[in-house]
Amino acid sequence: MPTDEKIKILVVDDRPENLMAIEGVLEQPELSIVTATSGNEALGLVLKHTFALILMDVQMPGMDGFEVAELMRGSEKTRHIPIIFLTAISKEETHVFTGYEKGGVDYLFKPLDPLILRSKVNVFVKLFQQRKKLQQNNAELSRAVAELEAVNRQIREQQKSVIEEERLKVLLQMAGTTAHELSQPLMVLMGNVQLMEMDGDIPAHLADRVSKITAAANRISDIVKKIQTLRHDEPRTYAGGKTILKLDQQVSILSIEDKDEDFAKVKQILQDHRQLKLTRVKSIGEAFDRLENECFDLIFMDYLLPDGTGLDFLEAINSKGMETQVVVITGQGNELIASRIIQAGACDYLPKAKVSGKVLLRIISNALEKAGLKREMRMAQEKLAEMSVRDELTGMFNRRYFQEALEREISGAQRYGHGLALCMIDLDHFKRVNDTHGHLCGDRVLREFGRLLDDGIRKYDVGCRYGGEEFAVILPDTPLEKAVALCERFRERVKNHEFTYENLTLHITTSVGVAARPAGGEGTGKQLVDLADKALYQAKSQGRDQVVRLKNNGES
Ligand code: GH3
Ligand code: MG
Ligand code: MG
Repeated sequence: MPTDEKIKILVVDDRPENLMAIEGVLEQPELSIVTATSGNEALGLVLKHTFALILMDVQMPGMDGFEVAELMRGSEKTRHIPIIFLTAISKEETHVFTGYEKGGVDYLFKPLDPLILRSKVNVFVKLFQQRKKLQQNNAELSRAVAELEAVNRQIREQQKSVIEEERLKVLLQMAGTTAHELSQPLMVLMGNVQLMEMDGDIPAHLADRVSKITAAANRISDIVKKIQTLRHDEPRTYAGGKTILKLDQQVSILSIEDKDEDFAKVKQILQDHRQLKLTRVKSIGEAFDRLENECFDLIFMDYLLPDGTGLDFLEAINSKGMETQVVVITGQGNELIASRIIQAGACDYLPKAKVSGKVLLRIISNALEKAGLKREMRMAQEKLAEMSVRDELTGMFNRRYFQEALEREISGAQRYGHGLALCMIDLDHFKRVNDTHGHLCGDRVLREFGRLLDDGIRKYDVGCRYGGEEFAVILPDTPLEKAVALCERFRERVKNHEFTYENLTLHITTSVGVAARPAGGEGTGKQLVDLADKALYQAKSQGRDQVVRLKNNGES
């Protein structure tokens, strides 16, 4: 073992012969014995070296052993060094030194018994070694924890960027779909302006406006193109004409047609295209019966039917939230009806006189493309909503985030043996605010309430809008009493707050249910939510404007 790793023992005695005798007894290869002949010398040495133990003569001229120990107790570096006092005085007097750290002190009586001296010293040497080992382990542990934290941070960053990337993709997809939808009416607009220009019948005083419209339409068209080029993956398009036949997908079409010859015509046109499956019904009523049990990609419908018009049908499917694309084939080739039909949500219309193979196939492919875009748009919106963690009205975390955060905090509390509190907060008689002052006023109050709540909790607490006029706060590492105190402060603050809306001033109160999972305790997030909910319910039934706590065993 290298010298500097030897365990150092300080022996203090004013008589050199005593020092030599003790050195002789303790001589061991792993020990380094340092000696001092006075208290002052000893104090100098303890500041320079790290000693595992001090053997200290009590009776010394000048400063005695107890005084040296007392001085050592005053310094952080030396206060933990164990001391064995060597004394000739009797046991009864040893209590004079009681203030010294427990376990850090022992006594040996002169004349010293070498065996006892050696075995006592060995005990302290072992203790020192163990402590050193522990310190090393601790240092290694701290290093490992720091490394883990760094890795965790990295993972979190990566996750964040994956989510961001995904979010961007969805946004681009939405932008692309919107651009595509925009391009259709834009083309109609530009086409019509072009027709007017070709006809040459634009009065002079309108010519300037028409040219401004053209310029604006061109600008929009450029923007649309730009957005479309940003898009990652174009939606799968159903090319018109014969190419649709190359798609191996089945397309089922429901035809609502009461006249046999009109249906026969469509059927004949489409009969060569085997992936187009045509089903016929003769009335709107029958159509709904069919639609209840079967999915159709597309509906062809006559405008005038025995139990209603195309407009009635469109209104009905809109109100049922059905998304099937409808093409109205009308005998009344009338522009007015056509525009009403389109406004009501049909994707296309076609005068019966114009029904031909080419036109029908183009209409089918357009309708399917629109359906695909609509689906994509809906999916993108759903995905975006799914990815959002904030409530729109208050800007607080939403319920989805709350659930995730609660699970995370519960497992953290479990791992580190921390406590965790949960508060459910509900505005009292909030319906009255809406009923008396309107929904917008209610929204304003909710937003202000959210702001107060955010303001009233700590940085690492998680405040969420749980739903409607109910809020929830997760208080990590917080005992029940502390959570109750925080909620009481918040309740009081809300009660005294003046909520304003236009020139109104409102006062509201709030009820709070608090539950906690004690440090080292058990219980899932759901149990905690249920408990806090129960407490909230009690707060309401006991008269509102109060904080109620419930313990795990249901006691308050
Ligand atoms: P209680 O003291 O028992 O909680 O009575 P309350 O009227 O607050 O509770 P209730 O559950 O009967 O009504 C809650 C009301 O909150 C009804 C709902 O219209 C309103 N609300 C929920 N979300 C919103 C919102 O986002 N904006 C507005 N303005 N009102 C909302
Ligand atoms: Mg309420
Ligand atoms: Mg409520």
